[in-house]
Amino acid sequence: MPTTAPLSESGAHAHRAPRTVLLIEDEESIGNLVRAYFERDEFAVVWLRSGEEALIELAGRKIDLVVLDIGLPGIDGFEVCRLIRARSQVPVLMLTARDEESDRITGFELGADDYVLKPFSPRELVARAHAILRRGRRAAYQDVLRLGAVELHRSERVALANEQEVKLTSKEFDLLTVLIENAGLVLSRDKLLDEVWGMTYPGDTRTVDVHIAQLRRKLSLQDLILTVRGSGYKVVRE
Ligand code: CA
Repeated sequence: MPTTAPLSESGAHAHRAPRTVLLIEDEESIGNLVRAYFERDEFAVVWLRSGEEALIELAGRKIDLVVLDIGLPGIDGFEVCRLIRARSQVPVLMLTARDEESDRITGFELGADDYVLKPFSPRELVARAHAILRRGRRAAYQDVLRLGAVELHRSERVALANEQEVKLTSKEFDLLTVLIENAGLVLSRDKLLDEVWGMTYPGDTRTVDVHIAQLRRKLSLQDLILTVRGSGYKVVRE
């Protein structure tokens, strides 16, 4: 049964609709905790225990953010993430119990926007949710960015290379956006982590390298993103 949160108790934000989090988590204790923290922050929470139910819910209502557990009773979180991305650009924050790089990389490749490791601080989870939503809003009112053969249509989240559409994950798109916005400047891995994944992201610079490699492969433009030894990455305007 879907569990829908009451609206803001204070009424202070009654003039605007609360943002809605779709929580996909089968563990009662974790779900209760996450829901309580989001509700305290005046989000509306729809809590479902399986990916199958969540995909139906997602098709039928406006969701601002998905919080997705990997271990679920039916299809797992990775598959749910893939199915969400096949139909929607809604931000996805993954919960994972396993501190394995392959899990994180798989999540990112499937289009997750961020993740937290269990056990996590619910306060940090909510902070990351805010960071994701802020980044999304910022991107929404930007225009078209061009560099050489690359074009980014930011409001539509469409990337073109040599006039051909290139399918990028949300993070790859954000990373390329930051690089192009700062064309000519060397950006360190830490700076890129901060800009693209948010300040609370643990300093795992390998994540940046993985996404850069994916961008190079997908864009088929080997010379677009330059590696600056010992410093980071940059793109150059011709
Ligand atoms: Ca679970």
